[in-house]
Amino acid sequence: MEFSADTFRKVMGHFATGVTVVTALEGERPWGITVNALSSVSLEPPLVMVALDRRRKITPTVRAAGRYAVNVMGEDQQAIADCFAGAPVSPGRDEFCGTRWHPGPTGLPLIDGSIATLECTVAERYSVGDHDLFIARVDSLANQEHHAMPLLYYRRRYLRVERAESVVPEGKAD
Ligand SMILES: Cc1cc2nc3c(=O)[nH]c(=O)nc-3n(C[C@H](O)[C@H](O)[C@H](O)COP(=O)(O)OP(=O)(O)OC[C@H]3O[C@@H](n4cnc5c(N)ncnc54)[C@H](O)[C@@H]3O)c2cc1C
Repeated sequence: MEFSADTFRKVMGHFATGVTVVTALEGERPWGITVNALSSVSLEPPLVMVALDRRRKITPTVRAAGRYAVNVMGEDQQAIADCFAGAPVSPGRDEFCGTRWHPGPTGLPLIDGSIATLECTVAERYSVGDHDLFIARVDSLANQEHHAMPLLYYRRRYLRVERAESVVPEGKAD
């Protein structure tokens, strides 16, 4: 079956995800990119994976530094996600999108107001297709006790949770 990259994106867009900004340090300078290709990979040891397009500015930075942070965006952080996805806004990415941030316990840039954060050290990297997969050990993590609902992404649009209902899964919870 032949299909275009656009069709692939369109179909995959039906898989709703959260939205993160992955950050890294180039020297002392913080860099960031909006990412939804985040996955929890292993519990013991705690490993996560992000997939970064090799054409992106931040990808060689993560490769060289061997470290990255994941900032999980709340619904009140859509403008930050937009900016780190390359939106033509001011202040732009050269000014870290004007976001307030602080160094986390391991020194990586954590964006203020993120609903959860992870600081990670790359354990394995795979070049697959046009992306690099960075599997990394979680060194430090935190989540806010009281926070906004998560920002969601679905069919190339941001989505907000309007009616939050939490239901315990029937059958076996993971
Ligand atoms: C919801 C969502 C999820 C996404 N998920 C992913 C994903 O999982 N993986 C993925 O690879 N992409 C993902 N993207 C796409 C990614 O965020 C954009 O492709 C990317 O940010 C666009 O960057 P760019 O085209 O400006 O290229 P970039 O190469 O990132 O940047 C282009 C130029 O901007 C400047 N620049 C960029 N960053 C900085 C900085 N920090 N400081 C100074 N200058 C800078 C540089 O001059 C560079 O030449 C996602 C986008 C969205 C909206």
